[in-house]
Amino acid sequence: MASNHHFTIGWISPLPLEKEAARLVFDEEYPQDEVQHKGVFYLGGRVGVHKVVIGVQRRIGLSQAAILAEKMSDGFPNIKYFLLVGIAGGVPRYGPAGAASEIVLGDVVVSSPRGNHGGVLQYDKGAWQGQGRLNFRGHTNGVPGDLTAAVNNFRAEGWSKTNIDETLKQMRLKLDEMRQGQYDDPGPIRDRLFKDSYEHQGTELDDCKVCCDADNAVSRLDRGEPAARLIDKPSVHFGNIASSNQLQISAVERNRVHLEHEAICFEMEAAGVMEEHPCVVIRGICDYADSHKNKGWQNYAAATAAAYAKGLLSMIPAIDVTDDGDTASTSSHQPARYSPNVTFGSHNSGQQAGVIHGGTFSWGK
Ligand SMILES: [Zn+2]
Repeated sequence: MASNHHFTIGWISPLPLEKEAARLVFDEEYPQDEVQHKGVFYLGGRVGVHKVVIGVQRRIGLSQAAILAEKMSDGFPNIKYFLLVGIAGGVPRYGPAGAASEIVLGDVVVSSPRGNHGGVLQYDKGAWQGQGRLNFRGHTNGVPGDLTAAVNNFRAEGWSKTNIDETLKQMRLKLDEMRQGQYDDPGPIRDRLFKDSYEHQGTELDDCKVCCDADNAVSRLDRGEPAARLIDKPSVHFGNIASSNQLQISAVERNRVHLEHEAICFEMEAAGVMEEHPCVVIRGICDYADSHKNKGWQNYAAATAAAYAKGLLSMIPAIDVTDDGDTASTSSHQPARYSPNVTFGSHNSGQQAGVIHGGTFSWGK
């Protein structure tokens, strides 16, 4: 049993399906009715040396993420870091010509400073610049130094310590018979990348297999060696994440934001959390941020993100909490709070966008 003061890691799951994957990485889960604040129940458990509290949003979007982070900070005053762990859309290809990296479905993107951005940039739809166009709205705070160090240390260790495949195995062992297969890797055949100019032909709910012409898609098998990966061996990519209240649903917009700001991932929550809280964003890629959404990859992408997050937690030293409930490293009776650090462009000492492949590690340019 842990009191609210013993939790030092806040884990935000924007969607219930992301929470279901997240709880599978607990080494120990606390009774559900014992982890609550002001009548709201959270999932609490232990991951390695950390006591982790998981909150799920009521609705999607930046402000809902901000509200949840604020409530969790209030109820669990010794949260030192937040992890925002979920699914998102990815750019299919990034990096310099000749040394481009491919993102494929099931891969993981981790927020990491790039160019003038601290790892997350906020977008919103600006009516004055034309319908549907997403406009850069502002920077968010960078990831705080010690959390960046954990990400970089983990990154430098490469695939051998990432252990996503091993963690996925352990997660599946916890599933009952009804859910066997829920987090299986859908495989390369079900990873279809449509041409940028070919829009989704059905309704939002229709699977592309039914409504879209396969002749306009390239399967992962046909995308060449850089897109190849073995079952349960997702690559981990480090770069900027574009965060917006509007879902990114156009290949053209995706490509433009990618070129202008080196964003490699699109989602709807991170900017809401990072403005006020120390946070690293971890996203499993379930689609290519175009009009061809489908649910086929969501569970697996949620699982690979959660598995990576567990590995990252293993790189963060235990955060001591004294018996009276303070974190030992802070002055007495001061909860661990984030001091925003708005120094963009200063994070780039040798850390560029890069990728850990299932087997090898390579830096970006
Ligand atoms: Zn489609």
